[in-house]
Amino acid sequence: QVVTRFAPSPTGYLHIGGGRTALFNWLYARGRGGKFLLRIEDTDRERSTPEATAAILRGLTWLGLDWDGEVVSQFDRKDRHAEVAHEMLTRGTAYKCFSTKEEIEAFRAAHDGYAVFQSPWRDADPSTYPDAPYVIRMKAPREGATVIEDQVQGIVTFQNDQLDDMIVLRSDGTPTYMLAVVVDDHDMGVTHVIRGDDHLANAARQTMVYQAMDWAVPVWAHIPLIHGPDGKKLSKRHGALGVEEYQAMGYPAAGMRNYLTRLGWAHGDAEIFTSDEAKGMFDLSGIGRAPARLDFKKLEHVCGQHIAMAQDAALLQEIEAYLEAKGEPALTQTQHALMLKGMYCLKERAKTLPELLEKARFALVSRPVQRDEASAAALDTVSRGILKSLTLQLQNATWEKAELESILTAAATEAGIGFGKLAQPLRAALAGRTATPSVYDMMLVIGRDETIARLSEAAD
Ligand code: GLU
Repeated sequence: QVVTRFAPSPTGYLHIGGGRTALFNWLYARGRGGKFLLRIEDTDRERSTPEATAAILRGLTWLGLDWDGEVVSQFDRKDRHAEVAHEMLTRGTAYKCFSTKEEIEAFRAAHDGYAVFQSPWRDADPSTYPDAPYVIRMKAPREGATVIEDQVQGIVTFQNDQLDDMIVLRSDGTPTYMLAVVVDDHDMGVTHVIRGDDHLANAARQTMVYQAMDWAVPVWAHIPLIHGPDGKKLSKRHGALGVEEYQAMGYPAAGMRNYLTRLGWAHGDAEIFTSDEAKGMFDLSGIGRAPARLDFKKLEHVCGQHIAMAQDAALLQEIEAYLEAKGEPALTQTQHALMLKGMYCLKERAKTLPELLEKARFALVSRPVQRDEASAAALDTVSRGILKSLTLQLQNATWEKAELESILTAAATEAGIGFGKLAQPLRAALAGRTATPSVYDMMLVIGRDETIARLSEAAD
């Protein structure tokens, strides 16, 4: 069974790159009936905060990336990490090193600053051990090479003489990151490690730990980091970096998932797809070796497509969740019902939820309708007169599109103006805005009584 995991360090918000890493792991596991696990790498007590953990979980939840089982805290497993370090001692694949900081510095100085420290304790007889603080170092192979068969990067070879006998357990008994990751991945049964390629070199060191314990090495897939539109490493100046910022901007989660899936992964010419479709298609061979570039235009396009194809009720639910997250008042029953009724026209061409809400203004306002400047200006004496006569003509209309069309067209002709000229005051009357869904759609959604009431209000 495939087991993947996402292993963020809780030092801040969920970064968009982290969100994509989580997504790739989730898709890979979910598409194969596997498990997707979540581990919080909180061993750095100075930098880890519960707020960051909460923000990461919120970000994942919004993205719809559900994990299996309990969230694992790496820090909680420190005793197990120490146990494995001692097991390595027993196996002879690690040793106690009593070298002091000064001795290590002296070694480096004597070796022309050569970075690979060679501890004199590597092959020492335990009977010669002093009663002094020690660290546990891995007895890393000095000859040959460690080869990573990476599903994205290909075969990557690390010369063993370039890697030192790294510390796995510090003198205070706490594990190093490199040990903790391997022990956790092993114990959690992780079969595939999919993560940023900034961890590629770590894979070599971690492979040594697996070998020292005689554990099966997982499949590696190191994915290139996301770059900005200019091809440079993604940074704040490129725009939003936190997943929750995208939520706050009102991108629909399904669109965001689709966009992030395509960010560095391709499958033929598949561009717009549901998550279920993505689960069926996602594979490691589709991950590119070149860094993907963030493209906001494309994000908007993908999100627009997802809004258009969403189920009306589900979309409305997402809008209500968005309003709640923003701390905005909830929709009233009337607003809810009108939005649901009008969703077919609201969805058209909206790329974000706030855009959709802006289009929905006509369904959300109540009388007296507040108007912006442009729409107030559209209500001059002439157009108010037309609106007034329309209130009478609409009195007995059947409220079908064809009939509304013929009434409005006739009114425009009678007034000697084009329909476009008539639409402006109608929009102003119905929505208080000049950019709205079509006049007919608005009239059909709010109904006869409300239409006539708004027209008379604007005509006065
Ligand atoms: N905690 C690491 C990070 O946030 C990830 C380690 C891993 O995926 O192996 O960069």
